[in-house]
Amino acid sequence: MSYLMNTYARQPVTFVRGAGVWLWDDAGNRYLDALAGVAVNGLGHAHPALTAAICEQVQNLIHTSNIYQIQHQESLAQRLCQLSGMDKVFFCNSGCEANEAAIKLARLYGHAKDIATPTIIVMEKSFHGRTMATLTATGNRKVQAGFEPLLAGFVRVPYNDIDAVRQVAEHNHEVVAVLVEPIEGEGGIRIPDADYLHQLRAVCDAHGWLLILDEVQTGIGRTGTWFAYQHTDMLPDVMTLAKGLGSGVPIGACVARGAAAELFKPGNHGSTFGGNPLACAAGLATLRILEDDDLLNNAVRVGAAIVGGFERELSGVAGVRAIRGAGMMIAIELDRSCVELVRRALAAHLLINVTADNVIRLLPPLIMSEAEAAQLVAGLAPIIRDFLLKAGS
Ligand SMILES: *Cc1c(COP(=O)(O)O)cnc(C)c1O
Repeated sequence: MSYLMNTYARQPVTFVRGAGVWLWDDAGNRYLDALAGVAVNGLGHAHPALTAAICEQVQNLIHTSNIYQIQHQESLAQRLCQLSGMDKVFFCNSGCEANEAAIKLARLYGHAKDIATPTIIVMEKSFHGRTMATLTATGNRKVQAGFEPLLAGFVRVPYNDIDAVRQVAEHNHEVVAVLVEPIEGEGGIRIPDADYLHQLRAVCDAHGWLLILDEVQTGIGRTGTWFAYQHTDMLPDVMTLAKGLGSGVPIGACVARGAAAELFKPGNHGSTFGGNPLACAAGLATLRILEDDDLLNNAVRVGAAIVGGFERELSGVAGVRAIRGAGMMIAIELDRSCVELVRRALAAHLLINVTADNVIRLLPPLIMSEAEAAQLVAGLAPIIRDFLLKAGS
């Protein structure tokens, strides 16, 4: 029996050490990590330059308080704004907290315009976290069930359907913002049409709404650009970050531009740990290493090699519906439930994930080499083929 609350159906494995894309369990077995702690460990495990930066910071100072000036927090905010084209940053500790901050910004923005019930448009099959506001925003009944009453002030539309957003605009005059993932991660690595974000930007501009992008999973190089919206030439008003930002040291950020960047005043919002010296040192080191080692380009190149590899290995295999990816965010969608594959891959010492029940999700470390990518494809493709053969017969 365990003293832990029963929040996760955990795999029967304990990792004790890592290096690069590899993890070792407590029996000394080596595993190829194609999940990276769910898009967190972009630099892989025990990256020497990251480890050195964190050790140095711990020896100096871990935490002070947001009551005082924090040099690393200023520096990380500046760097994020330089990379994103945004103006100001609020630091917290996780993705859901970053989204909470964004939702609070949207409500402040609405009240400043005398809108009594500020309403946020959210998407079907989205995921924004598990706090009360973010699970309300999430488009998955399983995440919400049992936690009613949910919050007021959200309306839901289908993802990648700009007409649905326009229709809400026609009859709902309380809308203040759209909250959307540039690619739906938990929802199955759903990549919208190339002009979707542009069209959302245009609708938001026409109605004076904030465009809030949840880049918690897609941000920090995951799709081959610093932020996924940089595949387009538009900017959001608010962007949220977390997963990859601290390479495993908890940190989240709500990044805003223009009017949205000026809304919070002292007393409106805060966080005890948010943006502390350790977390910001990890964030600064992460951004520096991603840049120094040209890892965004690596994500593009190796991500394409992984997609190409699976296309070669699985093309024409009955049961494979789609293979798609953006940088190191890769999906193999099957025509049936395949949660079972996680266990089978683990037995073959490959770490993968299944989301939305029938989508194999790969989120490899951005440092993965082409040789390691080839090992991943060579190891996983037969497991998928075998699963589809037997499950189908
Ligand atoms: C993981 C995730 C979150 C929640 O992040 P936490 O750190 O677990 O709170 C929010 N949005 C997206 C898109 C995510 O992938």
